[in-house]
Amino acid sequence: MADWRDDLPDVRGKLLLDQPLAPYTWFRVGGPADALFLPKDEDDLADFLRVLPAEVPVHFMGVASNSIIRDGGIEGVTIRLMGGYWGSVEPAGSHSLFARAGALDLAVAKASAKHGISGLTFFSGIPGSIGGAVRTNAGCYGRELKDVANQIEGITRSGEKVRFEAEIAQYGDPKIEFSYRHTNFPDDVIVTGILLTGSGDGDPEALQAEIEEHQARRAETQPIKDKTGGSTFANPDPPGTPDQRSSWKLIDAAGCRGLKVGGAQVSEKHCNFLINTDDATAADIEALGELVRARVLDVTGVDLRWEIRRIGRIQAKA
Ligand SMILES: Cc1cc2nc3c(=O)[nH]c(=O)nc-3n(C[C@H](O)[C@H](O)[C@H](O)COP(=O)(O)OP(=O)(O)OC[C@H]3O[C@@H](n4cnc5c(N)ncnc54)[C@H](O)[C@@H]3O)c2cc1C
Repeated sequence: MADWRDDLPDVRGKLLLDQPLAPYTWFRVGGPADALFLPKDEDDLADFLRVLPAEVPVHFMGVASNSIIRDGGIEGVTIRLMGGYWGSVEPAGSHSLFARAGALDLAVAKASAKHGISGLTFFSGIPGSIGGAVRTNAGCYGRELKDVANQIEGITRSGEKVRFEAEIAQYGDPKIEFSYRHTNFPDDVIVTGILLTGSGDGDPEALQAEIEEHQARRAETQPIKDKTGGSTFANPDPPGTPDQRSSWKLIDAAGCRGLKVGGAQVSEKHCNFLINTDDATAADIEALGELVRARVLDVTGVDLRWEIRRIGRIQAKA
């Protein structure tokens, strides 16, 4: 049978076949992409998507700080908007920055300090890309992406450029809704850029100090030097719920701190984090997560929901 990859369109960026993805992920696990596309710019991406046969599956990834890529790899085309062009963050009018999708959240925070824009330093606590932040409504320290997202630009699976306007910044908008670590942002739209608006003028030195404080707090409480994927399970109750139940407390109560499956372990430092202690497979990490879920359900009656996205083919056992 003909391989769909024999007829891939010409591109100006890079198109790599059977490309290992593990090095691009925080967990450092996972199999190859059938095809990995690193577009040069928006037109390269749109032109490619316009002619890519509709039946070829397309997936988007940032820096995979919220994803487990399974050991069998990802079917179809995986698109990643990282690197120089995609990492830019520039001032864009009153108290605003325009970030291309591959900009790291930390780069957004640092740019906000440099340009004296307050209200955006919370991004320094999130180790992902700003494109991934849209999909996950990333947030910390009481702020979320939806509080500062003013305009989102993207490209649909069929190669059409689209833009979502300011009303996205509210929960409950009829078109795009954001809730705790979740959004109904269309699955078939890859975010290419975002206009972020802070809350006003800020002193660059004070903002830089805020960033350093956020980072120090992180290092103290989370295993940020380990191969991890962030919070594994969403808290069962949204922020602001009285007596909010947190996943880590439930996991601790179920006796899972330090629990291991193969090379995967529940972090001793923060038990809602799973870590690859060096030789884990994606299957180890996922099985550990499922074991934790089962134990938490058994002991506390709470059915935890994965916050980490799991994607790709399960590898058949040899
Ligand atoms: C140590 C650690 C601490 C963390 N702390 C926090 C925290 O405090 N708050 C928080 O919210 N998160 C946290 N996370 C999780 C993670 O950093 C965020 O969810 C982040 O927004 C994911 O971005 P990413 O680029 O890694 O996305 P990925 O993991 O690569 O992808 C996540 C999702 O976004 C989609 N996606 C990626 N790029 C695009 C794009 N350009 N267009 C459309 N969809 C796209 C993917 O398809 C996928 O569905 C933490 C993670 C780690 C490892």
